Amino acid sequence: MVTDSAIQAKVVEKTEILMTYVVVENCIKCKYTDCVEVCPVDCFYEGENFLVINPDECIDCGVCEPECPAEAILPDTEDGIEKWLEINQKYSEVWPNITGKKEPMDGADDQNGKAGKEADLSEKPGAGD
Ligand code: SF4
Ligand code: SF4
Repeated sequence: MVTDSAIQAKVVEKTEILMTYVVVENCIKCKYTDCVEVCPVDCFYEGENFLVINPDECIDCGVCEPECPAEAILPDTEDGIEKWLEINQKYSEVWPNITGKKEPMDGADDQNGKAGKEADLSEKPGAGD
């Protein structure tokens, strides 16, 4: 017989292995938004110059990763990604949802691949849908 505590242990185990994809530095000042259109659960949120994924809503399907022209979406299994996971969690709770593609930011192609963009990350919300 399966006991309640055994079920609880399974739930905890499942929760602990849940993974997510994360938007990282190279999205800053680019925001091509190709990613938002393909997400089956609409879990992207828009800042002034950056997008984030809500880790609690992401189902880890991986569909968005190859869509990003800036290669700015990575699985949370990457080394050193904890900081970006926290940033995605934090801002996805306060920025508006975005599900439709928009024009990239002015100068996006020039910014794509630039180093040191983290200092430019704006805490301000974007417009959302
Ligand atoms: S496609 Fe990439 S660069 Fe564009 S908004 Fe999504 S994560 Fe950012
Ligand atoms: S991995 Fe899937 S569910 Fe998660 S943000 Fe990307 S498209 Fe959406």
